[in-house]
Amino acid sequence: MDRPYLFYELTNSICATCFRKVEAKVLIEGDLVYLQKWCPEHGRQKVLISTDAAYYRRCREFLKPGQMPKKFNTPIRYGCPYDCGLCPDHEQHSCLTLIEITDGCNLTCPICYSDSGPHRNASHKSLEQVEFLLDCCVRNEGEPDVVQISGGEPTIHPQFFEILDAARGRPIKHLMVNTNGVRIAGDAEFTRRLATYMPGFELYLQFDSVRPEPQRVLRGADLTDVRRRALDRLNEHDISTTLVVTLQKGLNDDQIGEILEFAVQQPCVRGVTFQPIQDAGRTQGFNPATDRLTLGEVRQQILRQSSLFAERDLIPVPCHPDCLCMGYSLKTAAGVVPLTGLLDPQALLGAEGSTIMYEQSHALRNELFRLFSTAASPVSSAASLAQLLCCLPNIPIPDALHYNNVFRVLIVQFLDAHSMDIRSVKRTCVHIVHPDGRIIPFDTYNLFYRDGREGLIERWKEPAVNLVPLEC
Ligand code: SF4
Ligand code: SF4
Ligand SMILES: [Zn+2]
Repeated sequence: MDRPYLFYELTNSICATCFRKVEAKVLIEGDLVYLQKWCPEHGRQKVLISTDAAYYRRCREFLKPGQMPKKFNTPIRYGCPYDCGLCPDHEQHSCLTLIEITDGCNLTCPICYSDSGPHRNASHKSLEQVEFLLDCCVRNEGEPDVVQISGGEPTIHPQFFEILDAARGRPIKHLMVNTNGVRIAGDAEFTRRLATYMPGFELYLQFDSVRPEPQRVLRGADLTDVRRRALDRLNEHDISTTLVVTLQKGLNDDQIGEILEFAVQQPCVRGVTFQPIQDAGRTQGFNPATDRLTLGEVRQQILRQSSLFAERDLIPVPCHPDCLCMGYSLKTAAGVVPLTGLLDPQALLGAEGSTIMYEQSHALRNELFRLFSTAASPVSSAASLAQLLCCLPNIPIPDALHYNNVFRVLIVQFLDAHSMDIRSVKRTCVHIVHPDGRIIPFDTYNLFYRDGREGLIERWKEPAVNLVPLEC
C-alpha cells in the first residue's frame, strides 16, 4: 500500500521544545508541504511549511552558488545551528545586516520579536557601541550592501542622527532605518532632517493594515492616523519608503490586495515587504499550530487579491529561495506594469513555464541575479533594469527609468523553532550584529542568541573532536 504522501527529501531541524538538532523529512501531501521531525524526548512534530508544493519544488531551480563574506567570525565547533556566527559553514554573505541601537520603544506591541517597549528605554547603545557594530559589518563585508538601523524603535535614540552620520561615514552602499513611524508622524523637523540622507537611504515603515482592527491586535493601538501623517510627511519629502506588513493568519492576510493598492498610490513608497509572524520573542495570541502562514500562501494570496502581479512575476530570490520571494513592477504615469509584462516571457521562463533560462545569456543571467538579489536597492534595481532591458531585442526601453518607477514586492519568511530547516538557514542572508561582534542569521538570533537566550542550547553543545579553524 502506498503511503499517503510523497517523501520528498531529508533535512535537519530542531525540536521546537528543547532545540535538540533532529532529522526532518519533507513530505508532500497534495499541494501541502510538511516538515516532519522526531525528538527522542518530545516525540513527533509535523509542521506545515508551504501550501504550494509546485512553487516549493520550483525553488530548487533558483539556487546559485553562495557568496562568501570577507571574514568568518566563529569556528565550527558544535555543528549548525549552534555555531553562529558567521561560521565557515554558512553559505551566504550578508545581503542585509541589522544593527539594533536600542531595545526601547514608544509602542508596546503584543507581538515583538525583540520584546521591546518603554520598559527598556534605558537600553540605548552608546554611539561608541554602535560604531563598533558598524565596523563589524564593514569587517565582514568590506562594502556592505545594505545596513538597516533597527531596534526597538531606533528613532527614539537620543543620538539617532549621529548614528546615521557614523553609518554614512563608512562604505555602506545603502542605509535603511526600520521604524514604526510614530516619531515621523509627530515631528516635522525630524522628517525634514531624515530627507537630507537621501539618496541611498530608505525607510522600512511598519504598516500592517489600512484598517484599525489588525493594528489593535498586532500593535496594541489603532495607528491609522499615525501612519497617515507619517506617509504624508514622507511623500512631502519623497523619502524612499518600503511598507513592512507583519501578517497573521486570519487577521490581516485577507487585506494583502488593498495594502498593495494603497501602497502604489503613495509616491514615496517603493515597495511592500510581507513578513508572516515568526514564533519568537513576544507573540501574545499566536498559536504556531493554527496561526502559521507560509511564504507559499502569502504568494498565493498576492496573486488572488491583486492584479499587480501574475504568477510568473513572483519568483524565488536566488540567494535564499526557500525564504525570499520577489516581484518587480514599474510604476509609470500610465499605471503599474509588472516587469515581466515588459519582457519577452521566454527570456525569463522556459517554455513549460517553470524554468528560468539564465543559461541562455550570461549577460541576462547576471543582470537578473543582480536585479533579484535582496541586496539590490531600488536605486541599483533601476539601473539593473535598464541594463536588463538593453539585453533584450524588441523591448522598448522607457526613456527615463528612475528608482521611483520601481515597485518591489518581497515576501520574507523567517524560520522559527517549528519550521527550522538547517539546509535553508545556512543560506540566510539577513543577519544581525550581536553586541559582541558576531554576525548571526536573523532566524537563529531571535531563537537562541538574543538577550542571553544562549543558555537554551547549552546542553546540545558537545565539543567536537576536531575544530574546524576559521577561514578568512
Ligand atoms: S546558521 Fe550559519 S552561522 Fe549559524 S551555525 Fe549554521 S552555518 Fe554557522
Ligand atoms: S514590534 Fe517594533 S514598534 Fe512594536 S514594540 Fe517591538 S520594536 Fe516597538
Ligand atoms: Zn525535544
